[in-house]
Amino acid sequence: MKTFAIYSPNNNQIISELDYSGFEETSKLIDKAQKGFDNWKNILPLRRAEILEKWYELVKKNRELIAKIMHEEQGKPIEEALIEVDYGNSFIKFYAQEATRVLGEVSTSFKSGQWSMNIYEPIGVVAAITPWNFPCAMVTKKIAPAIAAGCPIILKPSEETPLTAIKLHQLAIEAGVPEEVFSLVCGDYKEIGRAFLEHKEIKMISFTGSIEVGKYLMRESANSVKKLVLELGGNAPCIILKDANLDFTVQKIITGKFRNAGQACTSPNRIFVAAEIKDIFIEKLVIELKKNNYKIGPLINHAQKNRAVKLLEDAVACGAKVFFQSDIPSNQNSDLYFPPVIVTNLTDDIKLVKDEAFSPIFSILTFSSEEEVVKRANDTDYGLAAYIFSQDLKKTIEISHKLNFGVIAINDSGTANEKTIHGGFNQSGLGREGGKEGLMEYFENKFIVF
Ligand code: ADP
Repeated sequence: MKTFAIYSPNNNQIISELDYSGFEETSKLIDKAQKGFDNWKNILPLRRAEILEKWYELVKKNRELIAKIMHEEQGKPIEEALIEVDYGNSFIKFYAQEATRVLGEVSTSFKSGQWSMNIYEPIGVVAAITPWNFPCAMVTKKIAPAIAAGCPIILKPSEETPLTAIKLHQLAIEAGVPEEVFSLVCGDYKEIGRAFLEHKEIKMISFTGSIEVGKYLMRESANSVKKLVLELGGNAPCIILKDANLDFTVQKIITGKFRNAGQACTSPNRIFVAAEIKDIFIEKLVIELKKNNYKIGPLINHAQKNRAVKLLEDAVACGAKVFFQSDIPSNQNSDLYFPPVIVTNLTDDIKLVKDEAFSPIFSILTFSSEEEVVKRANDTDYGLAAYIFSQDLKKTIEISHKLNFGVIAINDSGTANEKTIHGGFNQSGLGREGGKEGLMEYFENKFIVF
C-alpha cells in the first residue's frame, strides 16, 4: 500500500510513515460503523460513561507520552503539549459524566388523556475531521461526546499530526470502546472526505478547519442533507480601552498570542489599542518580548511559514512598520521558527489584518472611540473569539453585547474549557462544541404522543 510521511517541524526529519488510505478504506469503516450503531445506541449510558472514564484514566496515565508525540509531530513545546493533553482529557471526563444526564421532556398533549414526549436519540454515524494545531483537544472534544451520545464516529485527523490521534485511538480501544464505534483513517484527505460526503449513512460531519473547506463540506453534503458542526477559524479583535491595567494586559496578550506560536483560531489577531495609550502599551510589550523568557515552538510547516512571511511583507509594502522583532533563541534550530514581531502603522484593509495571521505577529491598530472600535471589530466575515481589556466591567459587558462573536473574554486571553460552549458567529461556523450543547449536537430529537 502507498504510504505517506510525517515530518517533525522541529528538525524536518521523518518521524513516521503511515498507510495512505482513501475512498475504499473509508467506505469500509463507514459500513462497519453503521453495523455497530444499533448495538452502541442501546448500550446503557452508564456503561458508555464507564468506558469513557477508563479512557480518561488511560490518557492521564499516558499524558507524558502523548505530549511527547505531540511535541514531535506538531512542534509545540512539551510544557504546552502537556497542558493540551490535560485540556483534551477534560472533555473525556466531562462527557463521561454528561453521558448519563441526557433527559427528555414529558408534557400534556392537546387531547385529553394524551401525553407527549420529547426524547433524544443518537444521530447515527458521525465523521470528524480535525486540524493540526491542537492534535489532542480537537480530537477529544468531538470523539468523547459522540461516544457518550451513542454515535459511532470515524476520525480523520490532519495528515500533518495523526500520531497523537492514533495514540488516543489506541487508548480508547484499550479502554473498551468497540472498534466499530471509534475508527480512524488518514491519507488522501480529499478521497476520505468524498467518502464521508457520498455515503448517506454519515449523518453528521463535525469539522474544524478553514472556511474554504467548511464551505466545500456544506455544499457537498447538501445531497444527503447531513448535519454539520463547523468551527472555521476567527480573526479575533482584542480591544484595549484606555483604563486597562497595561502590565496585566500585556502579559495576557502575550500568553494568548504565543499559544501554539499564534497558530490558533482564537489567537488575538487585531490588537485595537486606545490611541491615548498606544505608545505606552507598545513600550511595555517590547520590554516583555525583549526579556525573551517565553517558550514557543516553530510553525507547523513551510507553507505556514511562507504564508506568515508573505503576510508580513505585504503589510510592509502597504506602509506598515515592523516596530520590533525578537531574536531567534540560541537553542532554536528549526528553520520553521518565526520570531515574534510587532507591526504598527496598519490599516484595516491590509491582508495581515483581514486574515488570520496564524503566527506570532502582534498587529497593532489604534482607535479613538468605543463606537468606532466596535464597528471595526465587527467588520469581518469571522465571528469566533474577541477580547476586551478594561477595568470598567460594566463597559466591557456593554461592548460584549455589541460584538458579533461567539466567545468573548474580558481581561483574559484564554477562552475555552470543557464546560463552556465554543463556536462562532458569521462564517466562523455552525453549531457548538464543549459543554452540554456540544453533546446535544450528536442527538436527533424525537417527538412521541401517547
Ligand atoms: P488548514 O489550512 O488549517 O490545514 P484545512 O481546512 O485545510 O485547514 O484542514 C483542516 C482539516 O480538513 C485537515 O484534517 C485536512 O486534511 C482536512 N481537509 C482539507 N481538505 C479536505 C477535503 N477536501 N475533504 C476532507 N477533508 C479535508
